Amino acid sequence: MNKKHHLICLSLILLLTLTRCENTSKSASTGSASSGVALPDANNFKENINGKAITLYTLKNKNGAEAAITNYGGRLVSLLVPDRKQKLTDVVLGYDSLKSYRKKGESYFGAIIGRYGNRIAKGKFVLDGKPYQLQINDRTNTLHGGFDGFFAQVWDARKTDGQTLKLSYLSKDNEAGYPGNLTVKVTYKLTDNNELLISYSAVTDKTTIVNLTNHAYFNLNGAGNETITDHLLTIEADSYTPVDQTLIPTGKIEKVSGTPFDFTRPTLIGARINDKNVQLGYGKGYDHNFVLRAGSGLRKVATVSSPKTGIAMEVLTEEPGIQFYSGNFLTGTTHDGKGKAAYGHRSAFCLETQHFPDSPNQPSFPSTVLKPGKEYKTVTVYKFSVLK
Ligand code: BGC
Repeated sequence: MNKKHHLICLSLILLLTLTRCENTSKSASTGSASSGVALPDANNFKENINGKAITLYTLKNKNGAEAAITNYGGRLVSLLVPDRKQKLTDVVLGYDSLKSYRKKGESYFGAIIGRYGNRIAKGKFVLDGKPYQLQINDRTNTLHGGFDGFFAQVWDARKTDGQTLKLSYLSKDNEAGYPGNLTVKVTYKLTDNNELLISYSAVTDKTTIVNLTNHAYFNLNGAGNETITDHLLTIEADSYTPVDQTLIPTGKIEKVSGTPFDFTRPTLIGARINDKNVQLGYGKGYDHNFVLRAGSGLRKVATVSSPKTGIAMEVLTEEPGIQFYSGNFLTGTTHDGKGKAAYGHRSAFCLETQHFPDSPNQPSFPSTVLKPGKEYKTVTVYKFSVLK
């Protein structure tokens, strides 16, 4: 080996050593988890809509878990949690830029849903004897608040510490057809127990209806992976609310036992999803409200896990219901997801904690009416761990 070669070899060794040191210090600074994925570039979210600035905020806990949230629709863009090999995995579907969140026909990825989550039959309801008409944006019904739902509004945002983002929004009287000025506050907190805690509150100046939720699409194999039918699911629900062809509850509450809706024990999502069943036919899979076992306050209502990555997620809520949606209407026709992923049929699931769909027209369902002087308050937690 001549002198020149010797020098090149020495430089290579030095470079390799330096790179290794840098990697070690990176994983040390992020706890024990190592980064397998990155968050979208915040520059792709910088914009002004009607004079209000849009930003992509990042929350990070001491284990290295990270959440990226934009104040456009209060959307959870990314959620990085460790898998069983301590590799950070992005478990929610989303887009790399604000532009994609604003396109027509977008599927409410990660959004705060309001003023009324889920469907209201024909967009009609009566309050204090007065009829109201909402926007019809889902066949014959209103879905997720209407065209101008909270998912498409710009929220005021304040990061109060490295793990907490506080959002607020004033939904004006008659916005999308709802009565009353409604002041809404939503806080996202990424705790050191790898929980994403979402607390909601709202007050009104006229009697109105409120049903808030978050529309995260999860894939515990990592966003962009093909299917969630290999996930195991448990829902603490002995009954559910069957629907008509337009996915409006019939008003009946039926037992899950002996049906494909029985998730009282851990069951593969895909085990019965293609069964010949009228209800599954209406939803093209699961798209139903489960009546959660009653309990006081915040309680565990669902558990999902991926045998592949070992990631497990528990859902805790104060709400009486949960919409289990198995991503049946995702088509995967465009490569516009994060990292150019195409999000296909059943490549994600949603567990939307809620009051039951169409409650304003179903006197036997728990009420969603909010009166002036009262406060709407509810908490939902998505808690992550790994299988033993
Ligand atoms: C609804 C589905 C709908 C999906 C996305 C879910 O909450 O139940 O029917 O397709 O949201 O829009």
